[in-house]
Amino acid sequence: MLVNAAGPWSSKLNRLAGIGGDFTVEVAPLRQEVHHVPAPLRLGDDVPIIADADLGIYVRPDAGGNLLIGGTEPACDPLEWIDDPGAADPNPTVARFEAQILRGARRLPDLGVPNRPRGIAGVYDAASDRTPIYDRTESDGYFVAMGTSGNQFKNAPLVGSLMLAIIEGVMRGHDHDADPITFTAPHTGHRIDLGAFSRKRPLNSVTSGTVLG
Ligand SMILES: Cc1cc2nc3c(=O)[nH]c(=O)nc-3n(C[C@H](O)[C@H](O)[C@H](O)COP(=O)(O)OP(=O)(O)OC[C@H]3O[C@@H](n4cnc5c(N)ncnc54)[C@H](O)[C@@H]3O)c2cc1C
Repeated sequence: MLVNAAGPWSSKLNRLAGIGGDFTVEVAPLRQEVHHVPAPLRLGDDVPIIADADLGIYVRPDAGGNLLIGGTEPACDPLEWIDDPGAADPNPTVARFEAQILRGARRLPDLGVPNRPRGIAGVYDAASDRTPIYDRTESDGYFVAMGTSGNQFKNAPLVGSLMLAIIEGVMRGHDHDADPITFTAPHTGHRIDLGAFSRKRPLNSVTSGTVLG
């Protein structure tokens, strides 16, 4: 039994293993930058994440009185699809930093714009509908937890439980493709249809289509 959870390398690994012939969802590495700036003084630490689709940014507080400002893939920003995640430039660029921080400053006029870029650059494992794939594959015993699309870090413990439910069910002989397994959330009792994360789903049209999921 094997689970491909190789992040932005997941599609390449599938191709090496000859997996993916029946996927309806495409997944590819997408380079992204998230920037880091001192928060304006009057902004408290208890500010929640703010998504601003008009300006194409999201903002959330970070430790030490700072803010993280990321992008929501607005049409004016070219998407940086890459072939080799290992070769992606890990440094934030001046152009992206200035664009994103200036957008933030349009909503937060007290926001200073530092003259050197600060932040991180990384690679999303971006699914075409920005919804992850947690599923079996066409090869018995080969599972995938991929396509996390820049927003699944916070869901990691739950994702482990979802994968366990799928793996246990499929290994016991359940036909998860024809009759998707459901998972009952232990704290809320909410029932989650795991077919929503199928590799063969019709593309999810009710997401924001961005990193915000
Ligand atoms: C800039 C940036 C900001 C983000 N911000 C957020 C956020 O605010 N909130 C949030 O929830 N999520 C965020 N994410 C997304 C989050 O980081 C990912 O969803 C999460 O890391 C996915 O976890 P993973 O374990 O599936 O993959 P990864 O964390 O990518 O781990 C995959 C691992 O597999 C290894 N690997 C690859 N190929 C092989 C191989 N052949 N053999 C062995 N190992 C291999 C890699 O080295 C890597 O360690 C962000 C991502 C980026 C890039």
